[in-house]
Amino acid sequence: MALLDRYGRQRWWPGRTPYEISVGAVLTQHTAWVNAARAIAALRTRRLLTPKRVAALPEGELARVIRPAGTYRLKARRLLALTRWLLERYGGKFDRMGEVALPSLRSSLLAIPGLGPETADAILLYAVGRPVFVADVYARRVLARHRLIGPQAAYEEARPWLEAHLPSDPALFNELHALLVAVGKSHCRTVPRCEECPLRWDLRGRRPAT
Ligand code: SF4
Repeated sequence: MALLDRYGRQRWWPGRTPYEISVGAVLTQHTAWVNAARAIAALRTRRLLTPKRVAALPEGELARVIRPAGTYRLKARRLLALTRWLLERYGGKFDRMGEVALPSLRSSLLAIPGLGPETADAILLYAVGRPVFVADVYARRVLARHRLIGPQAAYEEARPWLEAHLPSDPALFNELHALLVAVGKSHCRTVPRCEECPLRWDLRGRRPAT
């Protein structure tokens, strides 16, 4: 595959445990990963990267620790909500989610305050290993420019499209999502740089659609 040849395996998502991956998914909302990583490092330094330890923290103290991630009060509230949900329903064990029907698990995650589809799906795919495609802005931009979805297709239009057109394989979704982010950052930016892009062949001489 052209993307794999160009960028190599991405080995996403960075995180030593499923809980750390989920924490990262919340902390990287509306900020660059580097800021989320600094907040995760602060949690790790204080030995707080377990559901029980985070749940035991007062919200204000958690907010202070994760300050590097930005909008830290909001993210502390969201992280506590996710952590309490995880403890109450699954005893803090991600492997217990493996047997739950995916639609019901996804709905339950989406009901946690502050968890939108992109965050919930990143947790489902990268922390739980379920076949849900994270149809973020990078993925949608590439698909739209290649005329596979409409130019204004929303998240919940692009995600089912991707899931319907790919084998239902979490490892494939994992790698492809990471590679689409890579091409989005390097070439498929606001102004596309098609000349050097590994997906240029797929345009078949046409201009990008948007
Ligand atoms: S070929 Fe152009 S439109 Fe397609 S992914 Fe690359 S930069 Fe984007």
